Amino acid sequence: MKRVLITGAAGFLGSHLCDRFIKEGYAVIAMDNLLTGSMDNLIHLLPLEQFTFYHHDVSRYVHIPGDLEYILHFASPASPIDYLKMPIQTLKVGALGTHNLLGVAKAKGSRILVASTSEVYGDPLIHPQTEEYWGNVNPVGPRGVYDEAKRFMEAITMAYHNFHGVETRIVRIFNTYGPRMRVDDGRALPTFFSQAIKGEDITVFGDGSQTRSFCYVDDLVEGIYKLLLSDYHLPVNVGNPNEITIKQAAEEVVSLTGSSSNIAYRDLPKDDPKVRQPDITKAREILGWEPKVERADGLARTYEYFKGVVS
Ligand code: UDP
Repeated sequence: MKRVLITGAAGFLGSHLCDRFIKEGYAVIAMDNLLTGSMDNLIHLLPLEQFTFYHHDVSRYVHIPGDLEYILHFASPASPIDYLKMPIQTLKVGALGTHNLLGVAKAKGSRILVASTSEVYGDPLIHPQTEEYWGNVNPVGPRGVYDEAKRFMEAITMAYHNFHGVETRIVRIFNTYGPRMRVDDGRALPTFFSQAIKGEDITVFGDGSQTRSFCYVDDLVEGIYKLLLSDYHLPVNVGNPNEITIKQAAEEVVSLTGSSSNIAYRDLPKDDPKVRQPDITKAREILGWEPKVERADGLARTYEYFKGVVS
């Protein structure tokens, strides 16, 4: 049985990736320090013989006995409020954690895929964002700890590819949503669902005209799986190009949940990107991938999840 190491396994994306690799017949070695992840996301996998969980911080030396076919590095605080609260851990896991895992990949001859982000484009000056765009990032702003850690992650990953010949893949993930997002991670959709279910005001930051393009998690996992199996080592955007304003996202949540909540406008956080939309030409051409789940459907499935966890 081929073995895959998934870091950040107890998080939103990591746990869905664990499910996918178990389904594909791999032995999954899951690693997480549970800083932002939760064992609730993995509890259903724990009884399986082909699933192993290590409680470990990948910013420290990583030791895995035996062969590894693939490594997927998804460990990191990933929401703006998380990396504001945990700036040093965020920098360390993107930098030291990535270095450690590239070392494991080199030692074992594994292929490694690292989770980069649309945040490498910062508050973008070109729209939609293509992989060739170098970005507009404030290194010393509140998001700098995440954005620069991920930019370093890309740089060191390319260096291991070019200098050591390690097989590397870099995915730039755009806003993603679905079951297992943390209710309190501060992101727009979990916050809106939680507020709508409780009948509280829906907090839209700024005037809500800033845009995001939300991808349903199953689509994202499929794109990542295809990228891992491809032979393309440069960064690839994976996300849904269907762009909406945050105000519209709030209205859709209110309407779907039938909530009596009102929209309340709050200050826009510093350096909040005004627009974001992936150009997925590369993913379409190289991976033969594009998202399939309509937002109405994805939001309905997400609502089912949040109904069960919001109290
Ligand atoms: N946002 C909002 N209300 C909230 C949380 C977020 O209006 O309660 C806005 C936020 O300012 C940003 C967008 O929604 O413009 C998406 O924020 P999120 O935290 O989901 O992720 P980002 O794409 O900014 O990393």
